[in-house]
Amino acid sequence: MGVIQTVENASSLDGDIDFAQAPKRDLLRQKLSGPRITEFQVVIRQSALNGIHTHGDSSPAAEICGVLVGDVYQDATSAFLQIEHIIKGEAATRSAGQVTFTAETWQHIQEIMDRDYSDLRIVGWYHTHPGHGIFLSEMDIFLHESFFGLPWQTALVYDPRTGDEGFFSSESGHARRMPHLIEANEPATAKLSHAGLPVGELETAPIVAPRRAAVPLMRTRKRHRTASLGRLLLAIIGLFLFAALGVIIGLAIRTQDLHLPDWVLRMSRP
Ligand SMILES: [Zn+2]
Repeated sequence: MGVIQTVENASSLDGDIDFAQAPKRDLLRQKLSGPRITEFQVVIRQSALNGIHTHGDSSPAAEICGVLVGDVYQDATSAFLQIEHIIKGEAATRSAGQVTFTAETWQHIQEIMDRDYSDLRIVGWYHTHPGHGIFLSEMDIFLHESFFGLPWQTALVYDPRTGDEGFFSSESGHARRMPHLIEANEPATAKLSHAGLPVGELETAPIVAPRRAAVPLMRTRKRHRTASLGRLLLAIIGLFLFAALGVIIGLAIRTQDLHLPDWVLRMSRP
């Protein structure tokens, strides 16, 4: 890993951004997915998030990664991090399911930064956890603090199987989930979007359209449960009918004994 360097090394930022000096930018409240809170908040444009979803969904088994491009701004509420673009981590190699940024990846990223986003900064990175949830592993924390360790830089984790995502910051080996907002600058392409919901609401978020493997699996399980319940009910009804039939036959025999016609009685006597 020795030759790897962050693009931020070349920037004038030393990490201690004076938020009070950050450029002012007003966010359109009606375009945001939630309320602005008095805390350093991540604001990601829907177009950038769509790019991450598309990149992540293209690789449903193996992890992919890239960097987040934007800057730190302030509005009347507080300073915020605005993510405007992404750069896919081309040539990023994987080992044992873990993404890593190689020297070639950084070179590619640097070229695009110089060419397209020379007025912006690398504000963090994203990677996927296909099917294993939203968190930063120990290796992720190491990678984050090595390459994106400035206090305002963020790590986005996206799970292409569930559609969940979350932003994190990390300090001294401890990851912390950060609140985030989505700025609607274009329609969301994700069919199943849990994005921007508070963590507690993730489980109850309405399913817009079945897309992920987890959805049909859950439905199958539910159908199985209903089927076995129906079978149990049928068995109980069957048992009840069987018992009732026994009682009816018994009663019929007794009744018949009492009301057998005379000719039958006569015939049955020797
Ligand atoms: Zn990870």
